[in-house]
Parts: sequence; structure tokens; C-alpha cells
Amino acid sequence: MTRQKSGFRALPSADQFLLSEAGKGLVAIYGRKLTLNALRARLDVARAAIQAGEDGTALAANLAGQLAADLSDGVRSRLRPVLNLTGTVLHTNLGRAILAEEAIRAAHTAMANPLALEFDLDGGGRGQRDDHLRGLLCELTGAEDATVVNNNAAAVLIVLNTLAAGREAIVSRGELIEIGGAFRMPEIMARAGVRLFEVGTTNRTHPRDYANAITPDTGLILKVHTSNYRIEGFTAEVSAFELAEIARKAGVPLLNDLGSGSLADLSNYGLRREPTVAEAVAEGADLVTFSGDKLLGGPQAGFIVGRRELIAAINNNPMKRALRLDKIRIAALEATLRLYLDPERLAERLPTLRLLARPQAEIRAQAERLAPQIGRMLQPLSFEVAVCDCDSQIGSGALPTEKIPSAGLGLTGAGGDAPDRLSVRLRDLDMPVIGRIHSGALILDLRCLERDIDLISALAGL
Ligand SMILES: *Cc1c(COP(=O)(O)O)cnc(C)c1O
Repeated sequence: MTRQKSGFRALPSADQFLLSEAGKGLVAIYGRKLTLNALRARLDVARAAIQAGEDGTALAANLAGQLAADLSDGVRSRLRPVLNLTGTVLHTNLGRAILAEEAIRAAHTAMANPLALEFDLDGGGRGQRDDHLRGLLCELTGAEDATVVNNNAAAVLIVLNTLAAGREAIVSRGELIEIGGAFRMPEIMARAGVRLFEVGTTNRTHPRDYANAITPDTGLILKVHTSNYRIEGFTAEVSAFELAEIARKAGVPLLNDLGSGSLADLSNYGLRREPTVAEAVAEGADLVTFSGDKLLGGPQAGFIVGRRELIAAINNNPMKRALRLDKIRIAALEATLRLYLDPERLAERLPTLRLLARPQAEIRAQAERLAPQIGRMLQPLSFEVAVCDCDSQIGSGALPTEKIPSAGLGLTGAGGDAPDRLSVRLRDLDMPVIGRIHSGALILDLRCLERDIDLISALAGL
């Protein structure tokens, strides 16, 4: 008998394996279907290896262990929680804002129960799903009325389509933004059926540029918060206040797309001031749009606040039905917005603000506390740990050039590719640890690490 033939014989058939103790154990955990699929794939690999001259008995002996690893890998979700130690608090690729306990509880209740979503508990008749948020949004922004859609991109889309389809929208050349992924203002306009009318130049736009551009074909003037870059030097832009005056005289609505749009004055929390939504409303914009999961600190959503008859027209646009929110997010948003009614405790309860407001001294003390222990954990991998100062940022386009002093751990090892190698290892953990590479070190900014134990137990998986 050839060595190959006896090698093939050493492998069990699929049925034999499923009846073995190891096979039964895997079926009990993963079910018959997944186990069988993984088993067939492993057996194919083993047969090919034997064909290529490998030892069948050894392959057979390793079969159960490899299968268990394949199966546990296969069921491990790719949508796993991670430790965000990038220093970017609102990281779009890591899901932006994490929610307040109050919002999580509200979302949980909404998931597990029928609820009065579009049901008027007083009259017993039909209600409106947006009514749960409308009053709160008006109170917090000073606007007459409000509506909500899937995200801020959707908010801009539906406003453009409702007010200016088949007509022109006037925008400054300095504000034709692209936001990560595929949000480009000119493309959104085209999809909304609106013709873009650009005015001014990249660095300078004047009131007369807008005034001269208005014709009977103008559906709307759009002001866009240049949220992910800043033009500096010889510049001029027309303030929202001046623009509101021009729009009012011409009888054309003004939309101010704030993007991040804070509901609270950030300077109360040691951050640089960013115009609030209430200020944008007070400056005279007819409509203001902003995101739910940026500085506001809630789930993904797009808010539109402003004049009653314009909000009514938006709500009557059939697109509204396609862009509406589900009950889970409405519940979480309601709970998040309620936190803003109690500004004294806001920073304590809203994680986004709590993390942004953490003082550097507190984070540095945490880094000093953690450095020796993390150092011991990384020593077997030949990495060294040092406390370092670094800069956090808000992220998601809020105050793009604003750096927030922070602190963290700088991890260094031998060789130019050391930081890359280590970041691969850390990404592969059960609780992946995501840092950023900066001047030859892997930096773990501790701003978003509220509990030391989370980092220690994540690294224990090394
Ligand atoms: C972020 C942003 C958007 C898009 O908002 P999403 O909620 O991500 O859809 C639109 N406009 C501006 C100015 C922004 O900053």
C-alpha cells in the first residue's frame, strides 16, 4: 500500500467524525449544519495535503482542534466592540457617539415591547412618530417646528428636494464640501434634482455675490458649515446673519447645514465654542440641519428644525417615508435630548461630552498608573511602554483643527515596522485595541478609556 493511500485512510469520513465525541461536542455548540460545512472544508484541505505528500495520521489527529478553531472564528462577529484609543472621540469608522445609559435603556425597552409610536394615548387615535421629539427639539433650539430623518445627509437631501427640485440652490464655492465616504454636496444636489449655482471663489465670497445670483428660479440659499477643513488667510465669507437678511429680502428660504451642531455651549466644558443650533436658529436661518451622532451624542439621525410651513412641506414629501427613523432610535433620541434639559449633569451623563471634557492631568495620571502594568504585559513581545502627551480631537468634522490636550501610552519596539506589527496584534484581540501610529510609536490615547480594567483585560488576550 502506498503512503498516500494509507494517509487517506487515516482521515475519518464526515459521518464518522460527526459520531465521534469531538464531533458531537462541536455539533452541540455550533449546530449540525455549520459543523458539517466546516468539516467538509477541512477534509478537502487535508486530502489536498496528503496528495502533496503530507502525513495523513498527523492531519487526522489535528482535525478536531482545527475544526474547533475554524468554527469559533466563523461565529465570531466582525462587528465587535473595540477599545477606541485613537484619540478621536467621535470616530466615524468606529460608530461615532456611544450612548448615554438613559438612551440605552430607552432603546432596550423600545426593542422589547410594543409602544405608542404612532398612537395617541390621550385620544386613542393615530399619532405621529416624530411628535416624541418635536417638542424637545423646539425647546432646545428655539425653532418653531422640527422633523427627523435617517442622518444629516438625508436631512440635506430632503430639504433640497422639497424646496428647490427643478430649480437652483445658491452655494458659496468655499463651502462645496465632501465629507468622508460619499457625501459630496454637488452630488447630493444632483440627486435631489436641484441645480447648483456656485457663487464667489474658494477663499472669498461677498454678500453681493449672493444678492446678484438670486433669480425667480432660485429655490434656496444654502450655507454649509465647513466642518472638516478650515480656509485661512485672505478669506471672506458671508455670515449666516447677513445671509438671512439677503434671503428674507428676496423671499428665498435659507438652509444652514451645521453638520455637527451642538445643543450645548461647549465652552462650559473647557472646549472651544462651536456655534449652537439655537444660535443658528436665532441668526435667522429658515431651516437648520444637524446630526444626531456627532456632538449631540445620540444615535445616528438627521434633524431639521425651523419654520413651521417649511417643516410641513418636508413632512409631506414622499421621501420622508423612505428616510424616516425606526422606533429604537426615536426612543434613544428622546432620552438623549431629555438629558439636555438638565445642563448641570449633562457632562456626567452624556458620554461624548464626558470624554471630551476629561482634563489632560486626569488622563496623564491614568497613563502613569497603567504604564508599569502594561509594560510587563508587553515585555514578552519586546515592546516598551512610556507615558506620553498627545492631542485628541473631536472627530466627525467638528472643530477640525481643534486639538484637545491629552495623554496616553507610547509603545515602541525594535525595527521600523514595530508599531505596525503591534497594531496588527492588538487588532486581532477578542477585544481589539485600536491606537494610532505616530513618529515611530503606537500611541494609545487614553481619553476614551474610562475603566483601566478594560485595557488590562483586553491585553491579557495577548
Ligand atoms: C457630517 C456632516 C454631514 C453628514 O451628516 P451625517 O449625519 O453623517 O449624514 C452633512 N453636512 C455637514 C456640514 C456635516 O458636517
